[in-house]
Amino acid sequence: MLLFLSFLKKQKTEAPPVKANTSAPKQVAVRKGEIGEYKIDIQLDQLPKDCRYLSDLLIKNPKAKSGYSQIDHVVLTPYGIFVIETKNYQGTIYGGKDRKTWSVNGKYKMMNPFVQNYGHIKALAPLIDRKYVESFISMVSFTKRSTFKIDLDFRKIASNELIVYDIELSEFIHRKVSVLKIQHKEPLFSGREISMIYDVFSNADIKDPAIRRTHEQALKVDTKDTTTQAVCSICNKPVSDKVSTYCLTNEKFQGKVFCYEHQKTIQ
Ligand SMILES: [Zn+2]
Repeated sequence: MLLFLSFLKKQKTEAPPVKANTSAPKQVAVRKGEIGEYKIDIQLDQLPKDCRYLSDLLIKNPKAKSGYSQIDHVVLTPYGIFVIETKNYQGTIYGGKDRKTWSVNGKYKMMNPFVQNYGHIKALAPLIDRKYVESFISMVSFTKRSTFKIDLDFRKIASNELIVYDIELSEFIHRKVSVLKIQHKEPLFSGREISMIYDVFSNADIKDPAIRRTHEQALKVDTKDTTTQAVCSICNKPVSDKVSTYCLTNEKFQGKVFCYEHQKTIQ
């Protein structure tokens, strides 16, 4: 417990969550995306006891291009179902309700994450009773390495579409539930219903690793089709989508793409 608390303190100053004298060096700090997910997991563990959550669901969705929707997190509370999409971009996020595409630093384009998450909600909704359809809340979580230039409505707790930083995720869920509590007086879901919905979502989750792999592959091909192959600004060497995204979302590179070697030359 003590270790956990000291870790939380450290996290506020963005220090790497690795103790110097632990035996084997941990994997936690290796990949940026993983650090983001790690923080989210801590947030989800801070939710009240009457809430339950599921992570990384792959749900059949005939309306999605790939035939599936991949949902980062679903939090079941007595007053609503939070569907959470997590983003690990670094930079300034520009976006608005009516904009189909948002951007990072005005350069890297992404689909409006609420349009994306609406698709996720549409995949989950048919699995449960129609009367619960209104109880979904769409949340998009960004890491602290990003800055928001977005519609302020997304930060208002009355909204059913909320943008949060990963470190405020549980706080926003708490606040939203408090507001819903006042509006509804009676809980929408009993403990039994929460368990039932949990089981329904969990059973709908596709666990077959082969299908999961195919889905990931399909997503990769999909992004390739919409963007031309990026090349390093210095040596013209083609770079992967991952490298290109990393550069375009990192202020340091000022909207240019560099290969791994040349990234090191940029200060
Ligand atoms: Zn290069």
